[in-house]
Amino acid sequence: MKDYKIETKAVQGVYSPKNGEPRVVPLSLNTTYKYESAKEVADLFDLTAAGHMYSRISNPTVEAFEGKMALLDGGVGAVAVSSGQSASLLSILNIAKAGDHFISSSTIYGGTFNLFFHTMKKMGIEVTFVDQDASLEDLKKEIRPNTRCVFAETLSNPGTQVLDIEKFSALAKSADIPLIVDNTFCTPFLLKPIDFGADIVVYSATKYIDGHAVSVGGVVVDSGKFNWKNGKFPELVDPDPSYHGTSYTEWFKESAYIVKLRVQLIRDIGNLLPPMNAWLSNLGLETLHLRMERHSENALKLAKFLQGHKNVAWVRYPYLEEDKNFSLAKKYLPKGASGVLNFGVAGGFEAGEKFMNKLKLAAIVVHVADLRTSVLHPASMTHRQLDEEQQKIAGVLPDLIRVSVGLENIDDIIEDFAQALEN
Ligand code: PLP
Repeated sequence: MKDYKIETKAVQGVYSPKNGEPRVVPLSLNTTYKYESAKEVADLFDLTAAGHMYSRISNPTVEAFEGKMALLDGGVGAVAVSSGQSASLLSILNIAKAGDHFISSSTIYGGTFNLFFHTMKKMGIEVTFVDQDASLEDLKKEIRPNTRCVFAETLSNPGTQVLDIEKFSALAKSADIPLIVDNTFCTPFLLKPIDFGADIVVYSATKYIDGHAVSVGGVVVDSGKFNWKNGKFPELVDPDPSYHGTSYTEWFKESAYIVKLRVQLIRDIGNLLPPMNAWLSNLGLETLHLRMERHSENALKLAKFLQGHKNVAWVRYPYLEEDKNFSLAKKYLPKGASGVLNFGVAGGFEAGEKFMNKLKLAAIVVHVADLRTSVLHPASMTHRQLDEEQQKIAGVLPDLIRVSVGLENIDDIIEDFAQALEN
């Protein structure tokens, strides 16, 4: 495809029908694919030919969605998986094994924190959580000989901390390891992390990518820029006995990481995104640019309204000039800071609970980043499984209310918040 603008890529990218074919990406619910000869199927198994073989590993509808994600992010390839959790797990599992270690920012989604701290620990992979605002020199001290990657969220859930991607990229580069970022809240429309030095980008497609709260999914995008032949990643270079000795870097060059993730991990673990969900996620992508603009615009207006309200103790939104991340937001998010903001009601959590119960248009929902305005109290909901200390380092204050500002008319949203804030 010609190098069109991102809006055009979101609407028409990758899938280009031939004469008489469906204009819209078709939904292929089939599990299997027909071939004329046994040799052709054997070649697929040997990875010497490209093509679909079985929908646990790839599928045309899923492929169209993956292709569009890679196109929007500027990567060489993508794999769509069953959830954002799956994307985070596989992105690391693809290059780490028992006995290895990685570094993660502490200000990340509670589910990812649990995955890293508890489940991956049981797999023998250890994490060190770091303060992403620490100096590069201090961050470098956490690198160990067995550190395999650095992980962080570009805009953290729920804290809306903007990541200094270039600093984290310098940290990863100093140890010759990749930087993996979760770009869920920004989406490729607001931020393309690869442009700032991220090597791998992961998403919960359940959020803005779907955008309508109808589909759980995740994506891993590979920049294709990391040099896996630097001596630290033999699993990508040495012969893979489960593929008759294939060397991923030898055969697939800059796509080595993403091909390995599919043909080895997805083959074995079996968590490819189902075609129906890929179809829905692709539909979401077609309006991503419009939605992200309006989410960002509405959130800034609501943040400014809350800032001036007598019953509001504090507000956090990166686009507020007073916000500690304002200059990072201007640098990394010039098109807007998404629809998520945080605030505390004067009077603490009890007052906040009363406020949430009084909302009429906005709902209390365990979700974020879809078109209906919703609120949530992370300390007692999404981050409940973290202890007090862990909540603190994840940026979850006891009175923090997370607002996911939707696409309703902003005057109606503000009116709803105003009536709920009255004593
Ligand atoms: N990453 C972020 C930033 C999230 O907010 C979430 C979920 O809220 C996830 C990952 C996990 O995604 P999923 O719920 O699709 O597994």
